[in-house]
Formats: sequence, C-alpha cells, structure tokens
Amino acid sequence: ATSPQSAEDTFDVRPSSHPRTAEERAEVLSDLGFGVAFTDHMARATWTSDAGWHDRRIEAYAPLQLDPAAAVLHYAQEIFEGLKAYAHADGSVWAFRPEANARRFARSARRLALPELPEEDFLASIRALVHTDVEWVPTSSGASMYLRPFMFASEAFLGVRPAKRVEYLVIASPVGPYFTRGFTPVSIWVSEEYHRAGPGGTGEAKCGGNYAASLLPQQEAYAHGCDQVCFLDSSTNTLLEELGGMNLFVVGADGVVSTPRLSGTILEGVTRSSILELLGEQGHEVRERDIPLAEVLDGVASGAVTEVFACGTAAVVTPVGRLASARFDVSVADGAAGAVTTAIHTALTDVQFGVQEDTHGWMQRL
Ligand code: PMP
Repeated sequence: ATSPQSAEDTFDVRPSSHPRTAEERAEVLSDLGFGVAFTDHMARATWTSDAGWHDRRIEAYAPLQLDPAAAVLHYAQEIFEGLKAYAHADGSVWAFRPEANARRFARSARRLALPELPEEDFLASIRALVHTDVEWVPTSSGASMYLRPFMFASEAFLGVRPAKRVEYLVIASPVGPYFTRGFTPVSIWVSEEYHRAGPGGTGEAKCGGNYAASLLPQQEAYAHGCDQVCFLDSSTNTLLEELGGMNLFVVGADGVVSTPRLSGTILEGVTRSSILELLGEQGHEVRERDIPLAEVLDGVASGAVTEVFACGTAAVVTPVGRLASARFDVSVADGAAGAVTTAIHTALTDVQFGVQEDTHGWMQRL
C-alpha cells in the first residue's frame, strides 16, 4: 500500500464555499441511484504543451466553462476511467486496483494522442478527492463511491490535430447497485448489425466515442426487451466481443471458463483480469480465446454451456439469463444465476467490501 499522506501536497485543496449540509447529504445517501448524485468537490489539473501538467487542485464541483470551439466538442478527443472506493466496517476507505485504472488511462491517452497523466498524479487526485469528500462515501450495504476520472481537449481550435490544452478532472458519485433489480439475471441483445470497434480502431481505449457508437444498438436492445447489448467482432461478425460496458464470460459444463481474448477491439477490464485470477484459484481451467456465438448458442441448447455472466466495475458480476437477436431468443440454463457466477460475485465483493482478506494486494487504502 502507498502512503496516504502525500495527496494534498500535490493537489491544492480549495474548499467549496457552499458544501451541502449534513441533512442534505444524508438525504442523497439514503436513496442512491447510479451516477445521478455527485459530491461537493472535484479534482482537476491542466496540461498545456509548453508547461506540461500544472495547477493540480481540488475545487468546488461546478459546471465547466468551455469555449464553443473547444476541440473535444468537435473531434471527441476524450478519455475516461471508472473505479470504485469502498468504506470498510472500521471506517477506512479503499480503492480497488486503482493503479490498474491509472495504467489503462495512460494507454487510452496514447491512443487518443492526449498527454499521459503520471500514475502518481492519477492516484493522488483520487486520494485527495476522497479525503475531501470522505463524508460522501456511502456505508449502506452494496453501496460505494464511483470515481470518474476523465481528460479532454479544451483548446479552442478547429483544426484537426492533438490539442495543446487539455483538462483532467475527477468527479465522485455515491452509488447503489448498477442494476436496480440487484443480482438477478439480465437479458442480452446480440447486435448483428452494428459494431462498436474494428481492427486498428479505438476499441481497447476507454474513449467517449466508443460509447457514442454503442447507444443506437443499446436502444435496439431496449426495444427488444433486453437490458444490455453484446457486440460481435467486425471482421467476421461471428465472435463474441463484449457488452457496451462490461466483459463477458462463458462457463462450460466441463468446468472450463472462457472469456474473449484481448483482440485489440475490446476493453481490458480490471474486473475481467481479477476474475481470471480468482477462477484459477478456485480450481477452474480458464481460457482467453475466440468464442464463436454459434458455439455458445449450440452449447446453451445442448447443455454444454451452463452459465454466462458479464462483469465490470459498475455492476461487478451480473448473470446473463437470456440471449436474443433478430434470429434467436434463448434462455441460458434455467435463466437463473448459476453457481460459478454466484461464487465469483461473492469472492470479488467480499474482497472489495473488506469481508475477506485481500490476499492479492488489490485494495489500496485512500
Ligand atoms: N468493457 C467496456 C466497454 C467497459 O466500458 C467496461 C467498464 N469500464 C468494461 C468492459 C469493464 O471494465 P472494468 O472491469 O475495468 O470496469
């Protein structure tokens, strides 16, 4: 664990002149949605091509002032991250593998021709914001503090080139469970018409444009009574890739658990990596490989596939009970949460909420 002392040294804390009262905060914390409420402060730093990163600060959460010519509004030069901080029973607050998010943020920055934020600044910004707004970290069951670091091109310039002025911010949102129905299976619409990424594109970067591209197929999923959309690879339109915001796992009757390999067009989920390790420790054979949709549909029909689940920071682990598209509509097993899915959900959340010992060094005290 890193020393929690230094965060405020690098991020100058400028307290809000109008923080909400304890009563107002209690009201927000008593009725948590996902990503609808935000704390009193935000972390911020500015980068310019001549001065590099500077002006690291914590300031009042407030609307941004942007020039209408700001490059991000025109060419979407933007990246983000998502991670959670958890309050443990003794009142301490911990982030789950924040250095993994810091590294992914740097990889995304490279792909979007944005300046890399040093890992220590990423970690210090999170620590300073959580310290400043620590009273906003929820303590109710299953709740946590979702942290959203992001970076965008703020230079006012309409030429198409990497911006010379960039803003980095972190906002924090106390959240309840992502799916309001809790740990119950979701249904997945397999998009056979639209793709979110292609070879050489930005699929493995966490940039806003990928999510913009997923919205229309997501709308199609809702229209067909499904909760989430699953994308196929754009080269062959036959291989499972990932959901709009989660990675996928398929459990075989033989105990082998598979997940799509990192092809360059999917996001390398921190939850995915953690689950691969946990499954191995639980005695499963795990494979990162090409997974044809046809194999999963055949397996669901024959019983060779017993469970499908999705994973990501927001929803952690979510059973998939149904797969549908214009061509098919099938239940996975009996449509209920399976044993492997349930066990992996418990193993992961027990570490995150401090119920089980963190044998991997995944939790970082903030
Ligand atoms: N895929 C996509 C497209 C995502 O947006 C996310 C959420 N960050 C994930 C997978 C899961 O990643 P993680 O486990 O790091 O949240």
